[in-house]
Amino acid sequence: MGELQSSADFSATATFPPVARPRLRVLLAAPRGFCAGVVRAIDAVRDALAKHGPPVYVRRPIVHNMDVVRTLEAEGAIFVEELDEVPKGMPVVFSAHGVAPSVAGDAAARGLTYYDAVCPLVSKVHREVQRHQRNGRAVILIGHDGHPEIEGTLGHVGRHNAYVISSASEVAALPLPRDRPAAYAVQTTYSVDEAQAIVDALRARFTDLVAPTSSDICYATTNRQRALRALAPQSDAVIVVGEDFSSNACRLADLARTVCPQVQLIANAGAIDWSRLPPEGTLCITAAASTPENSVRAVIDALGTRYTVDVEEALAVEESTVFKRLQLA
Ligand code: SF4
Repeated sequence: MGELQSSADFSATATFPPVARPRLRVLLAAPRGFCAGVVRAIDAVRDALAKHGPPVYVRRPIVHNMDVVRTLEAEGAIFVEELDEVPKGMPVVFSAHGVAPSVAGDAAARGLTYYDAVCPLVSKVHREVQRHQRNGRAVILIGHDGHPEIEGTLGHVGRHNAYVISSASEVAALPLPRDRPAAYAVQTTYSVDEAQAIVDALRARFTDLVAPTSSDICYATTNRQRALRALAPQSDAVIVVGEDFSSNACRLADLARTVCPQVQLIANAGAIDWSRLPPEGTLCITAAASTPENSVRAVIDALGTRYTVDVEEALAVEESTVFKRLQLA
C-alpha cells in the first residue's frame, strides 16, 4: 500500500548538515497538510477497495492532489469524471468536496453501489443552505463558481435559488432588493480575510441577513492560514506545497503574497524554482490540506542538496479533529 503521510509524522526539529553550503532556515508551518476530511475520504477509497476488491471507481479527484490520486490508482482505484464511465454494478466513491443530490440519484439509477466521501463540514453547509431555502431566504454563496464544492452545494438548493459571489465588488450587483430576506454561506476553503470583506459588504447591503451558525470556513483552512500568516512576514520566501487546482492551496499562496514577494505554489519538489529562493536566509514552507507529508519532506530533501537546511517547526495551533470513518453499508 502506498504511503501517504500526515504532518503529525514530522519531527519537531531536524538539521541536514551538508558541508560548505549556504544556510537556509526553514520555518515549517504547523498545522499543514492533511485535514480530517481528506484522511476520511482517502480511507473511504481504501475501505471500498478492501470491501469490494479492485477496481473501485472514484468520481473526480477524491481530494485535489495528484500524488494522492496516483497512490490510490496504484492500489486499484479508477478515477472518472462522470458516472457514465462506471460499469454497471461497480462501486463508486464520491469526492470529499461533496456532490449534488442528483449525482447520488444518477448512481442509484445506474445500479451502482456508491459511497459519498463528502467531508462532514461540507455536509454542514449543505444542510444550512437547505434550511435557508426552506425558510424562504435568498441564498448567497461566497465561493468560486465552478469549484466542485460550490457545484455540490448549488445542487442542494438549485442554481436558480442561489447567487455565487467571490468579491465584495459583486455585492452591489446582486439582483435582490435591500429588504429581501437573505442568508449567506461560505466555501469551506475560502480565504478568511476575503470572506470577511464580502460579509461586511453583504451586511451593509441587506437589512435581513442571516449568517452561518458557526464559520463555514473549516478549522483546517482557518488554522493553515493562521499558521502561515504568522510565519510569512518573517520569511524571505514562501513555498506552498499543493496543486494549483486546489482551492485551499491557492488561498495559502494568495495570503503569502500579501506579505512576501517570493511565493511559490508547487505540487512537488521537482517544480521548485531555484532562482526564486534566497541565496541564504529564511524560507517558510506550508502545505495544503490535501497535500501528503511525503511531498513536504521531498521538498526539504531537495533543498538539502543545495543548502545547509535548519528546519524549525512552528506550531500556531494544536489540531486534534478526527472524523469518524465512513461506514460502507
Ligand atoms: S479542507 Fe476542511 S472542509 Fe475540506 S475536507 Fe478538509 S476539513 Fe473538510
